[in-house]
Amino acid sequence: MSSPVRPLIIAIANQKGGVGKTTTAINLAAALAARGLATLLIDLDPQGNASTGLGFDRSCSFVGTYELLVGPRPAPDAIQPTDLTNLFLVAADTDLVGAEIELVEADDRTGRLAKSLAHLPTGQFRVVIIDCPPSLGLLNLNGLVAADSVLVPLQCEFFALEGISQLMRTIDRVKGGPNPRLKLAGIVLTMYDRRNNLTDLVADDARSFFGDKVFATTIPRNIRISEAPSHGKPVLTYDPRSTGAAAYIQLADELIRRENLI
Ligand code: ADP
Ligand code: MG
Repeated sequence: MSSPVRPLIIAIANQKGGVGKTTTAINLAAALAARGLATLLIDLDPQGNASTGLGFDRSCSFVGTYELLVGPRPAPDAIQPTDLTNLFLVAADTDLVGAEIELVEADDRTGRLAKSLAHLPTGQFRVVIIDCPPSLGLLNLNGLVAADSVLVPLQCEFFALEGISQLMRTIDRVKGGPNPRLKLAGIVLTMYDRRNNLTDLVADDARSFFGDKVFATTIPRNIRISEAPSHGKPVLTYDPRSTGAAAYIQLADELIRRENLI
């Protein structure tokens, strides 16, 4: 038997909204869980799309991400099971929207999530995925300070690379300060549409800029991926035979290989 290891903590970040962060967080987490890796998804976005996308009812009373950050509380207090074996969730409580402001005056305001996650028992999870909000504020910084690596979804559209240098500077600042172990896990091209020439241009740009940091797997634009959250399911269980489900399984396998997760 292998010895228990610390989980690999991956923040899914890009300050642009609508680029596929939450979709990637949910579906990559589900695919890793389906591959047998105990996976914890943390919803760090006050919009709570990762929570509702997994069928979690946010109107009930529960301990969530806000409590981890502001309480502060140890992460094990907030872990919920999901319908998928091996997949667990820390949901975004509705108070999370105020955390950004409440933390401004707090001490160690960017290290709260890291501290909370340090309470996860060794060996309980192999991977922790953090779904970051579309900003570079305090919530996002908590994600980057807690993470081992950052995975950046890049939507294949005009201006896709705009803002990426700002994100890279933020990552460098976190690395030079509170979290020296932070690295770039990679760039994932999302909403990839082979029939659109712009897609190829963005993909070429990204690959010439980031080289092999860009995952070989691309996520196609796929209607089943966008329908799944309204059914409270990852695409993997909503439509296992869709191209979207296959793409996220392939992404999980590529990540598993790159990071020696199995
Ligand atoms: P973010 O978390 O970065 O704001 P989302 O993951 O919420 O972005 O995605 C934005 C929108 O695009 C959502 O409506 C989502 O369903 C849709 N979407 C994301 N990825 C895909 C895809 N590969 N194919 C089709 N729709 C997608
Ligand atoms: Mg999101």
